[in-house]
Order: sequence, then structure tokens, then C-alpha cells
Amino acid sequence: MKVFSERLHLLILVASLLVLGFLTTSLASYWVSRDEIHHGIVKNALPMTGDNIYSEIQKDMLRPVFISSQMAHDTFVRDWMLKGEQDTSQIVRYLTEVKEKNGTFTSFLVSDKTHRYYHPGGVLKEVRESDVRDAWFFRVRAMKTPFETNVDADMAHRDRMTIFINHQVLDFQGQFIGAIGVGVTLDTMAQLLKSYEQRFGRRIYFVNPRGEVVLTAQKTQLRGSIRDHLGLNQVAAQIINQDTKPTQLSYQLNGQEIQLNSRFIPELGWYLIVEQNETEILRPVQRILLINLAISALITLLVLAVALYSINRTQCQLEQLASTDALTQLPNRQAFEVVLQQKLNELARRPRAISGVFMDIDWFKQINDQFGHAQGDAVLQEFAQLLRHQSRASDVVARWGGEEFILILDDCDLDNAVELAEKLRQTVEQHPFQLPRQTGITISVGVTQWQEQESSADFFQRLDDLLYQAKTTGRNQVVHQRKPE
Ligand code: GH3
Ligand code: MG
Ligand code: MG
Repeated sequence: MKVFSERLHLLILVASLLVLGFLTTSLASYWVSRDEIHHGIVKNALPMTGDNIYSEIQKDMLRPVFISSQMAHDTFVRDWMLKGEQDTSQIVRYLTEVKEKNGTFTSFLVSDKTHRYYHPGGVLKEVRESDVRDAWFFRVRAMKTPFETNVDADMAHRDRMTIFINHQVLDFQGQFIGAIGVGVTLDTMAQLLKSYEQRFGRRIYFVNPRGEVVLTAQKTQLRGSIRDHLGLNQVAAQIINQDTKPTQLSYQLNGQEIQLNSRFIPELGWYLIVEQNETEILRPVQRILLINLAISALITLLVLAVALYSINRTQCQLEQLASTDALTQLPNRQAFEVVLQQKLNELARRPRAISGVFMDIDWFKQINDQFGHAQGDAVLQEFAQLLRHQSRASDVVARWGGEEFILILDDCDLDNAVELAEKLRQTVEQHPFQLPRQTGITISVGVTQWQEQESSADFFQRLDDLLYQAKTTGRNQVVHQRKPE
């Protein structure tokens, strides 16, 4: 029992060490990767995506601003306006030319004097201060700066962003006479949004200062106010903070962690928002963690199996060594007692006669004295060999100690036991032991049958007494006893 629990303790220790080691390395590497991924998203990916899109917006805007400025300073335009906007076809041809040469979405001129709105198709309409759609013109007229960029919400298609550059036209004295410019689609930027969305699974969209989603990349299905969206509403107020510096935020949605980078784009008057679902990005890393843990568990089990096997084998060898008498290879007294106990336990289930035969070699001391200890050993070995041959598989043979041997005969009553003991005594007497000189070797034997309910101590005591009797009454004889007195 003690050996068993020690073995169990050892195995538990080995298993704990392995599990601890594997868990530490697997979890540590998982945490490192998780941290790296988090930092990568928050410190690099999202701000850089924002930077790229922003710089693309600025780059895309530069050329139309330049074109609009050139148009505003064109002497033909100003002369034509100052001369009373006589020939409409002239300005229409001019606007068409600008549009086609520069590949813009549209081009326009609005006169302050006539309020006429000219574009490549002719005169579109007359702007009115009362019309909200024309509010932009009156805003431009009042501006201190020479131009503005205006995104017409109606014109902003989901994947096609249209922007107007509204440039003031001044006469040669610096008086406001109209607004001119081009409308362009920011296709490169739209491409960019699409590619970020497809390649990295980032959600990209623009929100106006009221929190309404005004433009999304192709796949992003996001409408209305960000205040009305679960998850997003947690950070809506922080997004609309008019900060041109990128703001890093995060929110939870269905147990997933979403990282969000928001910045105000003054050129558009909108917030650019780039989102990344961190939980999703982490999934492959988590899969690797699980695989690692599974491999670790497998290795732990294998190591335990190998350890258990080798411990058991060593244990068996040790037990074998501890229970066998080195000289005669017979079971020793300890082993004998264990085997005997098993037999006695069995007896309760299947009652039968069991007899004991206790033997001691006569005058053995003299053999040692005459031929030396080594020859004495050889005699013991030969005697053990004889004993082995005489006994059946079900019998228990053992070296009791010194030159005393014991034999427990299974399913054998006293008569048979005495008969067998007598045969054994004769065999020994007649056996030519390998000694330098022919020397007769004899044994004295005590035989008795196991009595029901008898303790093993009493049984051995009886055997010992009988053997003593055999010794004291002449040796080389079998003494038995039918019933305890
Ligand atoms: P008896 O039994 O007939 O009374 O005489 P004995 O000489 O056999 O009795 P005793 O018990 O006095 O002596 C036993 C001797 O057996 C003494 C001891 O040195 C010897 N002996 C015990 N074990 C071994 C052994 O393993 N090898 C050898 N060679 N001798 C042993
Ligand atoms: Mg003896
Ligand atoms: Mg003895």
C-alpha cells in the first residue's frame, strides 16, 4: 500500500511538473502573441490605415483645388462674367473642356450677378438663398478664405465619394462675382477603403459631427447614427470630439473586443473611423494555443505511461529480488508468508486439507566444517533442487532460513503428507551430493496438517516442535502429529 501511494505521488509529481511546464510555456507564448497583436492593431495597423487614407484624401484633394484655383483666376472667365455673361455656349465649352481635360466628375460656375448655375450641360438653374440645396453658394460668398471643399451628402454614393471644390471668383478689384470649381470622385481612396476592408477585415467609415454615418466602404453595412448601434454607442460621444489627433478607443460587441481609431478630417468635416475586431484576429492564435495544449496533454500522458511502465518493471524486479533467496532461488521466508496467507484466505472459499512439512538438514555444521562454507552452499542448492522436483505447482516451497526448508502441500491430508515427507527423506538420504568425499546427508522432518481456525503461529509452532522431536529422537526421520494436544 505504501509502495503504491509512493508511486502515485511520484506520478502526480511528474504529471504536475509537466503540466505546469507546458502550461507556462504555452500560455506565456499565447500571452506574448496576444499582446503583440493588440499592440500591432492599436499602435500600428489602425493609426497607419487612418494615416494612409487621410494622406490619400489630401493627395486627391490637392489637384482639384489647384484646378479650381486656376479656373477662378482665369481672365477669360472673369472677363466673360464682367461683360455680362453674353454667350452661354462659350462658358459651357470652357467648363466642358476643364471637365474632360482633367477627368473630373463635374465642373461648374455660379454667377453672383445672375445667380445662374452653369455646368457642362448648360445652365442648370438659378440658385436661391431660400433653397437649402443652394445654401453652399451663399456660404462661399461670405467666406474669408478663397475656397472650401464640400461633400454633398446626396452625391456621396456608398462606394463613390464626390467632393466639390467651391472657389470664390473675384473681379480685378477683388470683389466677389461668383463661385467656380470642380466636383471629383475620390476613387483611389474608395479603392483604398475597399482593399483595407477585404485584406484585413477592417471596417472603415465616415461619420459627420452629428454622429451620422455618411460614407462607408463597399461591404460595411452601417446606417444612421453611431449612437443607435449596439457597442458603438459606448464610444459615440468620444468619437465626435472634434479632435484632429487620432483617438484610440475600444468597445465590446457580443463578447468581442473591437478596437477603433477615430480622427477628424478637416478637409471633409467628417470623422474617419477604422475598426478592427481583435477577437477575430486572435482566433488563429487561440487555435494554436489549443493545439499546443493538446500536444502537451498527449506528451504528458505518454511520459506518464512510460514512467509507470518503467517504475512497475523496476518494482517487479525489486520485489522479485527481495522475495527470492539468492543462494537457492527459492522464495524466502517473507515471500513464503505472503503466499501462505493468500492460500489461507483461499481456504475459506474452498475448504480443503493443507499440510506443512518442515525440514532441517542434519549435522550441517559439520559439512561446513569439513568441506568449507562454499561446499555447504552447494549442498543447500542441490537440496533446494531436490525439493523443487518433489513438489507440485500448487505447493509452496521456501527456504525458512539457514538449512531449514518448508513445504506447504495444497489439497493434501496428513497421511499423504507423511508419505511424501518420507519419500523426500529417502530421496535425500540416497542422493549422491556433489562433495569431495562421499558423505551421507540426511534430513529431519516434522509434518502436520493445518487445523481449522488455527493461527499460523500455532501451526508453525507445532511444526517446529515436531522437527525438534525428530532431531532429539535420532534425526533422519519424519515425525508427525495427527491432532494438536
Ligand atoms: P542439527 O540441525 O542436526 O542439530 O545440526 P546442525 O549442525 O545442522 O545445526 P545448527 O543449526 O547448529 O547448524 C546450522 C548450520 O548451518 C550453522 C550455519 O553455519 C550453517 N548455515 C546456515 N546458513 C548457511 C548457508 O547459507 N550456507 C552455509 N554454507 N552454511 C549455512
Ligand atoms: Mg541442522
Ligand atoms: Mg538448523
